[in-house]
Amino acid sequence: MNRIAVIGAGTMGNGIAHVFAQKGYNVNLVDISQEAIDRGIVTISNNLDRMVAKEKISESDKTNTLNGISTYTELAEGIKNANLIIEAATENIDLKLKIFKELDMHCDDEAILATNTSSISITRIASSTRRPEKVIGMHFMNPVPIMPLVEIIRGYSTSEETTDQIIKVAKKLDKAPTVVNDYPGFVANRILMPMINEAIETLHHGVAGVTEIDTVMKLGMAHPMGPLQLADFIGLDTCLSILNVLYEGFKHSKYAPCPLLINMVTAGKLGVKSGEGFYDYSLSQKAEKIADQFAV
Ligand code: NAD
Repeated sequence: MNRIAVIGAGTMGNGIAHVFAQKGYNVNLVDISQEAIDRGIVTISNNLDRMVAKEKISESDKTNTLNGISTYTELAEGIKNANLIIEAATENIDLKLKIFKELDMHCDDEAILATNTSSISITRIASSTRRPEKVIGMHFMNPVPIMPLVEIIRGYSTSEETTDQIIKVAKKLDKAPTVVNDYPGFVANRILMPMINEAIETLHHGVAGVTEIDTVMKLGMAHPMGPLQLADFIGLDTCLSILNVLYEGFKHSKYAPCPLLINMVTAGKLGVKSGEGFYDYSLSQKAEKIADQFAV
């Protein structure tokens, strides 16, 4: 596998493009929005600058990485000749089904179709294609250049061969592939999201303020970042989508998204990506401090 297409240039897509390009893969980065692509490339470039400053990579590594990424706004163009396609578009089932149908139609017969979905059923996504044995979950963690885990999710029909190939690719990226089965939220978000939701409920019920809740979890439980700050980094819209998938998938009230989370998303407060969530990221000093904590 040498040509990778990444669909979506947002929070996750640009990180995925970055790590593949840094390992010498040719990467096609595809997004319907030119603005999202431009922002994605700026993020990659800034993250590479930080790595150069920390002497983790050289200036020429940075140049080669950026040169390894081509950008497209047309899906059919962007996936030409790709042997692995990783979809990292918005967490929305209808959108993903539509994208996979198109990918299946336009890409090489042998290509593997992976999705970075946080929670949507791989089996369901695979059923929109004629190659369910070649569809798999490749769930990177945020921020992609730093976090070692890749949760590999086997759909009902995913073949052993596809799973083995994706494990190999993840290892080439120096990541730790961990194989799990396809149930709502898989492992990572089945455990993480109820914790984040409970932190929001705790705030909603006035038990404590934002910083107090995050401080308890950071200093008391040795979490590197509090659950409310983590929710801001993940994106509150993404958290809400994942909770809805868990709630619908298990039909259990413990996954019902907190009304405060629903209100914040409705009001457009999506966390870091919109400039405000539980914290205000428009205050540049504060934003820089928080970003530094989580920096590549
Ligand atoms: P995001 O909102 O930052 O970016 C999504 C991008 O998809 C946007 O740039 C949008 O323009 C693009 N897009 C929408 N429709 C498209 C289409 N038809 N074709 C191409 N691009 C399209 O979202 P994100 O946080 O990067 O999440 C992407 C995926 O990764 C989701 O499935 C999410 O659940 C998953 N994920 C997110 C995180 C996280 O921490 N944010 C972690 C792991 C996995």
